[in-house]
Amino acid sequence: MKKLKILFLSSEVVPFAKTGGLADVSGALPKALKELGHEVRIIMPKYKVINDRKYVLREVIRLKDIPISIGSSVKKVNVKSAFTPDPFKIQTYFIDYRPYFGKDGLYVDAATNKEYSNNDERFILFCKAVMETLKLLFWQPDIIHCNDWQTGLVPFFLKTLYKDDAFFKKISTLITVHNVGYQGNFPPGSFQKTNVDSTLFTPGSPVEYYGKFSFLKTGLYYADHITTVSRQYSQEIQQSREYGFGFEGIFKERSNMFTGITNGVDYSTWSPDIDAYIPANYEYNNLSGKSVNKKALAERFGLPYKENMPVIGMISRLVNQKGFDLLEEIIKPVVKMNLQLVILGTGAPKYHALFTQLNKKYPDNIGICLKFDEELAHLIEAGSDMFLMPSKYEPCGLNQLFSLRYGTVPIVRKTGGLADTITEFNTRSGAGNGFVFEDYSSGELLDAIKRAVESYHKPKIWKKIMKNGMKQDFSWKESAKKYYKVYEKILKR
Ligand code: ADP
Repeated sequence: MKKLKILFLSSEVVPFAKTGGLADVSGALPKALKELGHEVRIIMPKYKVINDRKYVLREVIRLKDIPISIGSSVKKVNVKSAFTPDPFKIQTYFIDYRPYFGKDGLYVDAATNKEYSNNDERFILFCKAVMETLKLLFWQPDIIHCNDWQTGLVPFFLKTLYKDDAFFKKISTLITVHNVGYQGNFPPGSFQKTNVDSTLFTPGSPVEYYGKFSFLKTGLYYADHITTVSRQYSQEIQQSREYGFGFEGIFKERSNMFTGITNGVDYSTWSPDIDAYIPANYEYNNLSGKSVNKKALAERFGLPYKENMPVIGMISRLVNQKGFDLLEEIIKPVVKMNLQLVILGTGAPKYHALFTQLNKKYPDNIGICLKFDEELAHLIEAGSDMFLMPSKYEPCGLNQLFSLRYGTVPIVRKTGGLADTITEFNTRSGAGNGFVFEDYSSGELLDAIKRAVESYHKPKIWKKIMKNGMKQDFSWKESAKKYYKVYEKILKR
């Protein structure tokens, strides 16, 4: 294996800033690549939530007051540097420009609950600052690994603004799509802010999508390779508009340079035997701690603790994608099954209202916490009996993988990464690690929950399902090797 220099670009990275699975991947994959022997560095924005002192961010003299053009104006950007606070010590650079990144919220303004109106400028600046940072550091990666629309302009800038710059000649680019539902489409006027020749923005061109300037489409066209986060999702987004959100043609057209690689789990944080956030650790051979966590979970959510009553956990961004409309339709019969539901999430106001109302109506059965709370997420994984993900689509999904390790049996819809990782338990063969429904319908969801609850009340069977999941291994190592294979394919030197 050749030792590569890899630059990993992401708009969120654990432990610095997180809204969803992208941050988990961005925290874990660089570590796995480093373990394989590669040199990896990360660049991300310096948001207000990133505490300079906690993570020991330092100013870099060479990287001060870097002029970045956004259309006709010039912004002065600083870049800070730190290492990830784990034994892996991945060098991480933070693009610091307070007028853009100095508020609460990564993409959505916490004060208004609306997306920042200047998200185009924020990420044009980010992508340009990445290019300038590399030059000032004299660090020439072999690979720039981009993630999602926020970083989609880097492959584009390489082939336009910097195409004659010898410094960048031998760099190859990869873009990973974590969710094609988020495309970074902006009004045509945004294109001028890139300072790239405006004649490139024409109908049907690689940068244009239905009259908008699309950062993701641009990345998909200009990158040397595309990956997405599970095999099944890579198929789905080529096949229909429902999954491809209009980009299905692009994925199909580029199918010879498009690979599905399933995400892994960082078991150094998500493992019940060493989890620092839960009251009682437990493991495959001794599950006794699980009931202690179940009790703590009930307390935390203000629910009565009943040892033999199944608890279903949910941790999610509260958005349409995640299937809450199905749950809403059947909530009455679900509660009648004599179970408890605990929900941790933030997102659309309509779901905040819905769950607040359900919590009032069923105070002994439905517990809610409408916040982002990393620690509580661990307690839910450890203290719940089952974990529910009735997603309309799910590129990979991480919580079902965490759940397997915690002996918390997943109930999922058969889509994307959920389809690749969860199989229905079969009583006869004893195989399977969860409960799966196929059609996006509340009837099928209800049946799946019923099957799970029935099995739950047969302790021997239930233990078997738990253990089937607990012994599975979804660590990053194998996936990191698959990324290496892709890098190798696109290398220019
Ligand atoms: P997505 O990326 O679509 O949000 P994933 O299942 O891939 O979905 O990843 C979601 C990640 O975000 C998981 O690590 C999950 O535990 C975490 N998460 C989501 N919402 C919350 C929340 N309110 N509090 C804590 N963690 C959350």
